[in-house]
Amino acid sequence: MHELGIVKHVIQTLHDVAKEHDVRRIGSVTLEVGEVSGVVTEQLVDCWNYFREKDELVRGAPLYIETVEAVTFCTACEGTYKTVPNGKTCPLCGSTETYLLQGNAFSIKQIEAELNTDPPQNA
Ligand SMILES: [Zn+2]
Repeated sequence: MHELGIVKHVIQTLHDVAKEHDVRRIGSVTLEVGEVSGVVTEQLVDCWNYFREKDELVRGAPLYIETVEAVTFCTACEGTYKTVPNGKTCPLCGSTETYLLQGNAFSIKQIEAELNTDPPQNA
């Protein structure tokens, strides 16, 4: 399953970041998922909910997903249009000389961390 690999990758990245910044727990994670990235967000959340219970760093942390709209650029008329309803054919001029500008990527947008700070000592 593609989504399983992504979640494992995200959790590994979180561990790397946590190590680097002395983070004990992750509060929440926000992912940006392109409309045509092929990632099924429901499966992503299911995998996340499964793994977060097995991992102390991310236990109970919610996963937020923001969808990035797919946009295609037409080299014939130099226009841009929404990819999902139109595909590779430009709705402005009918050309198929087009390429995807954005919407096929996947990235971690934001990590909310709980910093590893000790409470002040009362003398
Ligand atoms: Zn065009």
